[in-house]
Amino acid sequence: MNTIGSKISDLRKQANMSLQGLADQVDVSKAAIQQYENGASIPGNQILKRIATVLGVDFWEFFRVPKFNISIESVKFRDGNKLNNATEEENEVKKHVLSIVKNYLELESILEAKIDFKNPIEDFIVHSNADVEKAVKKVRRKWKIGNAPIDSLTELLEDKGIKIIALERDTKSGGLSGWVNNIPLIVINNSGAHKRETTRKRFTIAHELGHLLMKFDITNISEDLEEIFCNRFAAAFLFVDEVAFEKFGKNRTSISLGELKDLKETYGISIQSIIFRLSSLKLIDDTIKQEIIKSYDLLLDNGDEHFGNYTKSDEAPIRFRKLIRIALTEKRIEKNKASELSGIPIDELQNLAIKNFDLI
Ligand SMILES: [Zn+2]
Repeated sequence: MNTIGSKISDLRKQANMSLQGLADQVDVSKAAIQQYENGASIPGNQILKRIATVLGVDFWEFFRVPKFNISIESVKFRDGNKLNNATEEENEVKKHVLSIVKNYLELESILEAKIDFKNPIEDFIVHSNADVEKAVKKVRRKWKIGNAPIDSLTELLEDKGIKIIALERDTKSGGLSGWVNNIPLIVINNSGAHKRETTRKRFTIAHELGHLLMKFDITNISEDLEEIFCNRFAAAFLFVDEVAFEKFGKNRTSISLGELKDLKETYGISIQSIIFRLSSLKLIDDTIKQEIIKSYDLLLDNGDEHFGNYTKSDEAPIRFRKLIRIALTEKRIEKNKASELSGIPIDELQNLAIKNFDLI
């Protein structure tokens, strides 16, 4: 529901004023007021300020959100046993994630920017590796991204309604996925040991995406096999089989590291993952696979740790900050509220590059 619209309607009725009456005093058409009230359009701040004056209320009144009240009791992680000291650590992470999601939802509610997540492969059951490849193609088709490289995986998934949360936890777990009510979330661990190359982060995110989207026949699929399928999903999602076939062709007898470097930089997938992908797609045989691994290891031994650099995105969650910036620029929230929701100190909010359009 549109908060501003219903506020205008309520306040107008309280003031015993007709649509026409308000329209005349604000100097807009009756149809315009009607549209504001039923949410078909949102008045700009100038008009809203006039409406506030006519109705005798404070401008901010329109943005005051009724006490945010959504029942979120728990975060359900798919698999908590990757965390150290399962219960203690798990509870800590859950508590943290829950508070972030609550703030996120409140902000979305203020901006009316809620995204309803829809699983594009809801009815598809995965039994095999071939199904995983099909699942990836279905998702990419429904999301209209074809076989193209995905520059920012985080941005793509955030726009689909998946909440991506970066935490710094000293645990074995590089990533987790789960649900708060019906909101899917992916938690990425940015702590020391996990703060590796962006391509690693992308693989983790894509792996967790596999857990969120794919449905398995649980009577036949073990947890270990689910892990294997999710790794396959990640590799396929980042580097679609058709692209691999096109780039490499069949029966290659040798592959240069330069070729792999180019692909890493374009598709944001690590060189190791490309080598395994080519092998699982049977584009290279075991001998060639071992040869490439050997020459790549040699390269790493020589200190060339970051052979090939993925620079298109650093895969840090951005949507929440973007919404905070919009809320401030559009004057939907005051600075102290922005600080409370985001955890960013008030004096650092300037760093969000807020343009102070002085409309009121
Ligand atoms: Zn997993």
